[in-house]
Amino acid sequence: MKILLVEDARSVVRVMTARLSSYGHDVVHAENGLLAVDMFERVSPDLVLMDIEMPVMNGFEASNRIRAVEANQQWAWTPIIFLTSSDTVQNLVTAIEAGGDDFMSKLVPEPVLKAKMKAMSRIASLRHSLSIANKKLQTLADHDGLTGLCNRRSMDSRLDELWLDAQESSAPFAILMLDIDNFKKYNDHYGHQAGDDCLRRVAKAIEEAVDVANVQGLAPGAFAARYGGEEFAVLMPNASMSAFEELASSVVAAVRQLAIVHEKNAEWGIVTLSAGGSRIESATGELQALFREADARLYSAKSLGRNRAELQAVA
Ligand code: GH3
Ligand code: MG
Ligand code: MG
Ligand code: MG
Repeated sequence: MKILLVEDARSVVRVMTARLSSYGHDVVHAENGLLAVDMFERVSPDLVLMDIEMPVMNGFEASNRIRAVEANQQWAWTPIIFLTSSDTVQNLVTAIEAGGDDFMSKLVPEPVLKAKMKAMSRIASLRHSLSIANKKLQTLADHDGLTGLCNRRSMDSRLDELWLDAQESSAPFAILMLDIDNFKKYNDHYGHQAGDDCLRRVAKAIEEAVDVANVQGLAPGAFAARYGGEEFAVLMPNASMSAFEELASSVVAAVRQLAIVHEKNAEWGIVTLSAGGSRIESATGELQALFREADARLYSAKSLGRNRAELQAVA
């Protein structure tokens, strides 16, 4: 375990560090509560051993602050054990109230310390596994199973934040709605399995075009999502009008370049994409209005013959 030892008495630090290290733990040390909070944020320990009486900031206050830091992190709860000189009932009650999990005498017999650390190691390894599982679940929940792109739900939640940010800084904002042309005919002609493969390839092409724009600094923060079915969206905070136009045409071109044969896509003979976009120079009002404009442009792109991007700059 990575153990944060918060203690001002040098002799206690020396003994504790020697013992804990001999059990195979990494010990980092802070000599008062204030330094401990800072250290906690920097090293994310598995366990905190916290003295109570210290200069600058005592252990109770430091624990309160550590719990406040954790309040912003989902599922975070690092065990805190108070180190006390006296095992009074009042010390125990105050320790738990301050967000501590247990307390232990500084004169704890060596085998008891060793046993407690063994129990804490079990908790730490369980917490570690839970955090890995949690990250995996989060990734699954945020991404579309077929294409791996952001799904509609995670797009919507990111979008709300991005739109708020854009409004606060009166920044530009652009949306691109993408729809595969005559995709029902593709499914009917080549089968659903082939349809799924096509969706995956198209999604990848869209994502790569967006990544390139990101890397080139054209559309910083832009990302693609599967909006639903054979429809995708690209969200572009902070993109200039020319970057917006460039990205729209490069996405449409990228799908064309895949050259996936589609005999039933009338005049093209390959899978194509239509795009409808709208961009506002300074984010204000309803985000829905921007979506409505993009939808209307997409409709135009379809009626003008598909395989093209139609864009609109909102005043
Ligand atoms: P348009 O050019 O006007 O967009 O015509 P379209 O045929 O692409 O549009 P329509 O909305 O009629 O059909 C969309 C098709 O997309 C219908 C549906 O079978 C297919 N589709 C939606 N989601 C999936 C999917 O996950 N896998 C597969 N294989 N097909 C899907
Ligand atoms: Mg002390
Ligand atoms: Mg559609
Ligand atoms: Mg379509």
